[in-house]
Amino acid sequence: GTRDDCPLDKDELGSKTWGFLHTMAAYYPDQPNERQKSDMNSFFHTFSKFYPCNVCAEDLQEQLKHSPPETGSQEKLSQWLCRIHNEVNKKLGKPEFDCKLVNQRWRDGWLDGSCD
Ligand code: FAD
Repeated sequence: GTRDDCPLDKDELGSKTWGFLHTMAAYYPDQPNERQKSDMNSFFHTFSKFYPCNVCAEDLQEQLKHSPPETGSQEKLSQWLCRIHNEVNKKLGKPEFDCKLVNQRWRDGWLDGSCD
């Protein structure tokens, strides 16, 4: 069982962190300047050194080596992060998320208005 005044376990930390990361990507600029691109790239590399789950952090560092952050636009960053998350889903035996739906999930809400 989990209580909301107890330390986060790996799964709670994971789902809250994904929520933060996808929301950050959802509000990244459509036309970032060079500083924003380089800061976002640094963010993910630094984040991957301090994420407080060792196996997760090591795995993310490996992923960043062959798939560096795509910081060219909101769309590129959100799609890149969706693919990164799907790699983790695959490893854990969780269903793949349809990356076409990422802006509905994390920015706009579902087309049926269920988030309004
Ligand atoms: P989560 O995977 O946490 O997803 C939360 C919500 O995000 C879902 O309900 C769904 O609506 C949405 N979503 C799902 N997939 C996508 C996607 N591709 N794009 C956009 N939105 C999506 N756990 C381990 O046991 N081993 C690991 O190596 C590991 N590595 C991790 C690395 C990182 C960087 C992070 C942030 C977490 C990692 N975790 C790892 C935790 C794991 O990914 C899950 O967060 C945890 O298992 C809880 O899963 P969940 O079912 O709550 O859904």
